[in-house]
Amino acid sequence: MSPSKTIFEKIIDREIPADIVYENEHCLAFHDIQPQAPVHVLVIPKRRIENVANLTDADQALAGKLLLAARDVAQKLDLVDQGYRVVANCGIDGGQSVDHLHLHVLGGRQMKWPPG
Ligand code: 5GP
Repeated sequence: MSPSKTIFEKIIDREIPADIVYENEHCLAFHDIQPQAPVHVLVIPKRRIENVANLTDADQALAGKLLLAARDVAQKLDLVDQGYRVVANCGIDGGQSVDHLHLHVLGGRQMKWPPG
């Protein structure tokens, strides 16, 4: 893992702005800068973990908190009735571009399957 701060760590530390929609002790959520749906929010742990592949058994509680934060974001943004998608891209083939674990919460339109 690179020692330099990721863009998401800079958002956590309020060094760069973001449209924050949700925060608790462990997680932060903010609107994606290039939304792929009418609602596109990123939910991240405040502690840096590179991606799903880098989770350890010791991260069990945090992984759960991240998923629950995604649930709370969807509730807060009124996505529950219509439904929404939660995605974690992992590594090169997964299309991950920021090396800080994040869940995409996408909603506000009908999603397609399979994803591109
Ligand atoms: P990934 O491709 O790693 O799964 O997702 C990274 C996401 O971060 C992308 O959807 C991208 O648009 C978003 N992103 C990259 N830089 C910034 C930024 O500075 N601010 C915000 N809000 N989103 C960003």
